[in-house]
Amino acid sequence: MRATVMYGAGDVRIENVPDPSIIERTDAIMRVVRACICGSDLWPYTSMAPSETGQSMGHEAVGVVEDIGADVRTVKPGDVVVMPFAFSDGTCEFCHKGLQTACVHVGFFGNNGINGAQAEALRIPLADGTLFRLPVGEEDALMPSLLTLSDVMGTGHHAALAAKVAPGKSVAVVGDGAVGLCGVIAAKRLGAEQIIIMGRHADRIALAKEFGATDIVSERGAEAVARVKVLTGGYGVHSVLECVGLDQSVETAIAIARPGGAVGRVGVPQHEAIPSARPSFYGNITIGGGPAPVRAYIDELLLDVLEGRIDPGRVFDRVIGLDEVPDGYRAMNDREAIKVMVNPS
Ligand SMILES: [Zn+2]
Repeated sequence: MRATVMYGAGDVRIENVPDPSIIERTDAIMRVVRACICGSDLWPYTSMAPSETGQSMGHEAVGVVEDIGADVRTVKPGDVVVMPFAFSDGTCEFCHKGLQTACVHVGFFGNNGINGAQAEALRIPLADGTLFRLPVGEEDALMPSLLTLSDVMGTGHHAALAAKVAPGKSVAVVGDGAVGLCGVIAAKRLGAEQIIIMGRHADRIALAKEFGATDIVSERGAEAVARVKVLTGGYGVHSVLECVGLDQSVETAIAIARPGGAVGRVGVPQHEAIPSARPSFYGNITIGGGPAPVRAYIDELLLDVLEGRIDPGRVFDRVIGLDEVPDGYRAMNDREAIKVMVNPS
């Protein structure tokens, strides 16, 4: 089968690799119906050291179960399923608490040698705890939105929960990528009254407005902070969704949170330390977040997708075949596309 392998910064190749097969009795094999490229794939795309073996890429997909191991109980061949970006056993203490990304058996697809989803098929470890069966056919019109339940919609929702978004609150979203845009959807869904999107790309801002953003801040750094203060009566917002992960964006996120506010971080940190120790201390600002347990959120978000209350699939503004994946990375990295969907068939 064909799969995406990254060999270093800017070096993405489509290769013929062995078909996946059942290794453990808890595995399933999933044929990929739709996958996509993530903003977090752009970190290795711009910085990965050259590797001779390469890394199989992709951690978001909807697919069809083709085969299952002897111990798999909750999915069967022919089922249409969504895979969260992390696999988890579904049985440990953390899975029971709804924190599947801290599962004692967790693994992250397309990372550290684990196979990726930008491929024709992949092996799903711990299929019972990981896969979520969807009540649709594989060509359903809602497929783009269902695909976002793999990562970006669940991650935006997690940021909103970590930032303590609630009815009537003011919210700022730092980052106008697919996660930030889904964060706008999540904030609106949780009842936020004011939603400020911080971004400067016209196409993304237009979509953010349609998703429910009430204000746009295109400035950066100190000017951005000043602008948010003006928009919030001088105090800053109750909740900040930090969807980037860079030092400067975390610093901005903390600076625009009002005293007693909260910052929900879902951008993968690109630095060791969290900046602004003193401002966050003196402001009594809660800093939370981490890798979203999207598996825990599918149930709830799926209902809103199926009933048409949210349409996060609109973040996909380009659809490509597997052979065009290297150019898809380039397009996202050049901000030519918001998020690229891959149809491997
Ligand atoms: Zn677990």
